[in-house]
Amino acid sequence: MSTIADNISHVGSRIQTATQAAHRPVNSVQLLAVSKTKPAETLREAYAAGLRDFGENYLQEALGKQLELADLPLIWHFIGPIQSNKTRAIAEHFDWVHSVDRLKIAQRLSEQRPAELPPLNICIQVNVSGEVSKSGCTPDDLPALAAAISTLPRLKLRGLMAIPEPTDDRAEQDAAFAAVQKLQASLDLPLDTLSMGMSHDLESAIAQGATWVRIGTALFGARDYSQS
Ligand SMILES: *Cc1c(COP(=O)(O)O)cnc(C)c1O
Repeated sequence: MSTIADNISHVGSRIQTATQAAHRPVNSVQLLAVSKTKPAETLREAYAAGLRDFGENYLQEALGKQLELADLPLIWHFIGPIQSNKTRAIAEHFDWVHSVDRLKIAQRLSEQRPAELPPLNICIQVNVSGEVSKSGCTPDDLPALAAAISTLPRLKLRGLMAIPEPTDDRAEQDAAFAAVQKLQASLDLPLDTLSMGMSHDLESAIAQGATWVRIGTALFGARDYSQS
């Protein structure tokens, strides 16, 4: 069995190879470790092997791990669907939110971000796969949503996030990620972040400009939902 340190090293090589192949600067792609369903000790092991940024989808689960890992200087990213009644805790306990897809949620996050913390980093989740996905704003709604969010005082709009329909076809992967990059470029805003690419398609995402790849399975193995 390979250890988490082995997996991190392997994922790091994949990222490096893809970054070089795309003629992009070294370190232009960051690794977000997606730790949903994994226990706190697994994150501690990943921290010891060098990881700092962790992505969580479920608020209660994330808050529990944050308590257990309060002795470590971790950076927490919320990447799951957001209900209105969860915004306060997310605004208080995270550094980034990648999954904002409507204005009401963004307004609440801005209002509820504690004054003593820096502005909350935000990515707008955009749906480039049409009806197969329930989450994400439509490409048509994106310009107005991005313009509105960019004016909210306690948020810092950084860029876009996408989860295209899974496919093993590299050309289809490239087309979906290229569409996200094009949408970002079409916005007249100073954005520096594209959160896209998971375990099976990070090479394509990096070729199309990803700056965060969100990796779970390739770091921590398959997820087991039977306990929850
Ligand atoms: C679970 C999840 C990931 C990680 O997916 P893997 O295929 O395990 O790498 C990335 N992004 C989001 C939003 C997720 O929910």
